[in-house]
Amino acid sequence: MRGPPTSGTPSAPAPQVYGHYKQSDAQNGPPVSQTYTPAAVNLSGTQATYSQQFGAPPTSVQQVTNQMAGMQVGAALPTTAAPGYGKKTKNSLPPSRPPTGPQLSYGAPPPQAQSGFPNQYPGPVPHQPPVSQPSPFHAAPPPAGFPPQPGAPPSPAGMPVTQLHHQSMSQANHVSLGPAQPGGMPPTGPPPQPGMQGYPPQQNGSFNSRDHTHHSNSGAFLKITLHKYSLFFSPKIQVIEDDKANKSGEPFTTGVRGQAPPLVTTNFQVRDQGNASPHFVRCTAYNMPCTSDMAKQSQVPLAAVIKPLATLPADEAPPYLVDHGESGPIRCNRCKAYMCPYMQFIEGGRRFQCAFCSCVTEVPPHYFQHLDHTGKRVDCYERPELSLGSYEFLATVDYCKNNKVPQPPAFIFLIDVSYNAVKSGMVGIVCQELKTLLDYLPRENPEVESNVRVGFVTYNKVLHFYNVKSTLAQPQMMVVSDVADMFVPLLDGFLVSVSESRVVIESLLDKIPEMFADTRETETVFAPVIQAGLDALKAADCAGKLFIFHTSLPIAEAPGKLKNREDKKLVGTDKEKSLFQPQVSFYGNLAKECVAQGCCVDLFLFPNQYVDVATLAVVPVSTGGSVYKYRYFQAQTDQERFLNDLRRDVQKQMGFDAVMRVRTSTGIRATDFFGSFYMSNTTDVELAGLDCDKTVTVEFRHDDKLSEETGALIQCAVLYTSCNGQRRLRIHNMAVNCCAQLADLYRNCETDTIINFFTKYAYRSMLSSPTKTVRDSLVNQCAQILACYRKNCASPSSAGQLILPECMKLLPVYLNCVLKSDVLHPAADTSLDDRAYLRQLVSAMDVAESHVFFYPRLLPLVKSPQYDSYLPVAVRDSEERLSKGGLYLLETGLHLFLWVGANAQQELLQNVFGVPAFGQIDPNMTSLPVLDNPYSKKLRGIVESFRTQRPRYMKLLVVKQEDKLELIFKHFLVEDKNGCGGASYVDFLCHMHKEIRQLLS
Ligand SMILES: [Zn+2]
Repeated sequence: MRGPPTSGTPSAPAPQVYGHYKQSDAQNGPPVSQTYTPAAVNLSGTQATYSQQFGAPPTSVQQVTNQMAGMQVGAALPTTAAPGYGKKTKNSLPPSRPPTGPQLSYGAPPPQAQSGFPNQYPGPVPHQPPVSQPSPFHAAPPPAGFPPQPGAPPSPAGMPVTQLHHQSMSQANHVSLGPAQPGGMPPTGPPPQPGMQGYPPQQNGSFNSRDHTHHSNSGAFLKITLHKYSLFFSPKIQVIEDDKANKSGEPFTTGVRGQAPPLVTTNFQVRDQGNASPHFVRCTAYNMPCTSDMAKQSQVPLAAVIKPLATLPADEAPPYLVDHGESGPIRCNRCKAYMCPYMQFIEGGRRFQCAFCSCVTEVPPHYFQHLDHTGKRVDCYERPELSLGSYEFLATVDYCKNNKVPQPPAFIFLIDVSYNAVKSGMVGIVCQELKTLLDYLPRENPEVESNVRVGFVTYNKVLHFYNVKSTLAQPQMMVVSDVADMFVPLLDGFLVSVSESRVVIESLLDKIPEMFADTRETETVFAPVIQAGLDALKAADCAGKLFIFHTSLPIAEAPGKLKNREDKKLVGTDKEKSLFQPQVSFYGNLAKECVAQGCCVDLFLFPNQYVDVATLAVVPVSTGGSVYKYRYFQAQTDQERFLNDLRRDVQKQMGFDAVMRVRTSTGIRATDFFGSFYMSNTTDVELAGLDCDKTVTVEFRHDDKLSEETGALIQCAVLYTSCNGQRRLRIHNMAVNCCAQLADLYRNCETDTIINFFTKYAYRSMLSSPTKTVRDSLVNQCAQILACYRKNCASPSSAGQLILPECMKLLPVYLNCVLKSDVLHPAADTSLDDRAYLRQLVSAMDVAESHVFFYPRLLPLVKSPQYDSYLPVAVRDSEERLSKGGLYLLETGLHLFLWVGANAQQELLQNVFGVPAFGQIDPNMTSLPVLDNPYSKKLRGIVESFRTQRPRYMKLLVVKQEDKLELIFKHFLVEDKNGCGGASYVDFLCHMHKEIRQLLS
């Protein structure tokens, strides 16, 4: 049969179609398939032949559905946050239990940080007590002199200094733009020309990097003078290299309150001494202003970017798991904050005072311990929750839904088998890969089999469910074509253990590509696919993840049906925002249901045209899931990237059915949240799934005055189900300083984190405001930040100087990158789907990812492999840095380019590509040939290390100079003016300067 199937029955000879439901069958009587198997369900018109496992046959579809619902009574779940989380407990004293002492498991030493998952706490914490502030939160104010300002080393060797202006009073970078002011610093280049006040666009190449000034004043502050001709200082690269030089040697210890960590570009080891590692939490400001007036005046956002389940570097141990016994973790009676190093024990250790709300709580007898002469518990360093910034608690059944220990989670794979999906090779690749990938489902102990169960669905405009029960000789298919009223036609045999059903699963995965090989069906549904996965998890009473492999706009008649609404004419207008809002409200409601069930949705898209990512991504984004997009997917060129993404996505550590709550000490509170999650109230961040790559950005605002003495304290608690079904709480504590002087605020900010926050804020604002308004307000806020500094913290200087705080030297360059990003400032050929895709992607990025995404890393690859253990030093993202004779690697976290200069030497080309001439390089290659020479090895090693650092696999694109691909490559040279009107860095710096001057005048 060659014609397109009309009912959802695959056109290819399907081995076993155990019942399908279609309207036309109503007159045909029961199909023959009814006799096949006990597990099969045959629905025929209004007559349903119901299998014995479901009891008496219902008489209608509705009845089947009702009966299914009836079977799920026990699984009916509340749609709100998990009970027990934040709920009042009667008393912190154990009700009727004799004191049993602490419940720590003293077992074998923790396995080293491979898994990223916690160990049982092995005993005394193997580290030194905090160095300077044993109890930072209650300690005296920080030493009067701040630690030496990081990132401001002496002028590095090889960094020529053309102008040097000490100005000991001001603690600033002075960037003098435009003509030198009378009495100011004389320019070194040609004299300024009249009419240059307006800072016209600079000519490419007119800036000489050697002309910049970069010098330190007693190792603390920089002053940089620029004018039109004597540019350029290279702040971006220099700041990064300085930070590496200064901070990568020694471990970063977290015991000192308010200490900004090394930059994300620096490799460093962390020692947890009471505050969460920067791998888990990064703040925009480590000196928070004491009052809301100060915060408002400075406009510096107060926010933390939190990556609760971050995978730590191999040399750092994952958080310990603490068990406080049957009564659960010790918490403050009033605000429910969890026991942490900042709680103060009083009355000989019988009670503790909460560091967040000051309430005094009794210490339960089993947790009692004596205090030493300084008021600290003598067991302080033996208990992670009293000495570390990050740790986990074992949660009790009070923390589980319906007070019931959760089932292990399930993974359901839902594969689009429409024409495009089959033709592109996607279906075949997915099925082939799953056969091996299923052996790598997440588990805590690599020795033990994963508890995660799996299920399989294929679909086009109808859905096919598969029974893969281990006792079957062959998998069985059940077709549900009533997509308007989705239900799961089988329970037993749908979710199975891989090891038990391996043979049947493999047989199924072999058959799927065959069954649909000749399909003509081009239409797909989408919402019913999610609905089906959700219902299956509901029926199994477990949390889990759906992996949906989807190709096209779901135009088939079904709930959540979409139409093509791509309208480029709206771009740049006030209506542009509507393009980023979901097309229909159906998906928002579906997302809510998914969250209630702990059903996380990951979406792999393979579009050949507009698929409305803005709408399709609603459920993934609301459930803590991920969206991957492979445009014009072709097996040959894109398989490697897709498979690497899929492997990582399936294997990565994650928590299910999670709720995150951020508590703060008096004076500030968490007011806003950004990321992939759902919120049904103002405090609980609900995450159907939370993987090791996801971040949640939290904004704080004052609700009272903060004190310099006590600082401010943040506690992030994430309740989740581990992949083996254990309910846990992960706690991250972070104490920061508070300051009454603006200068102190500006001394201790982190620009990368500020940019991460601003981007997420701006990308969300696009849903409600015109893009231009969003961009303007970003510029305005940054100008206010810098103007406030200039006005209040810098010494008087001429208006021609742009003065930047040391830690915000890079604010303008990064801000410009955000403003000209595809999302906020698209090129004419940027698709709406791409923008919607990037918008949601950035919203869950951590600081390291957003950093490289906005300011890509550009490495010059010199001829000899002289650096055996070091990476070449990156250069600025500007075309003028590219030498015709060179080779450059550029990475963005999503893309990886190898740019080859037209005059690259023969030896170099031979070493890298194995060809003697530029013309012979194949621009279509996606991986470098494996050649046995040090240069090839080194380069491939760098490419590999870049890939392992990023959550998504980067396909390598070889860009030959002057080739057409070079246009795409140049788009990432973000310091240059771009083709769609994005300003060069220099132009933007001038623009910022003008804005600041306006604010000051
Ligand atoms: Zn409290």
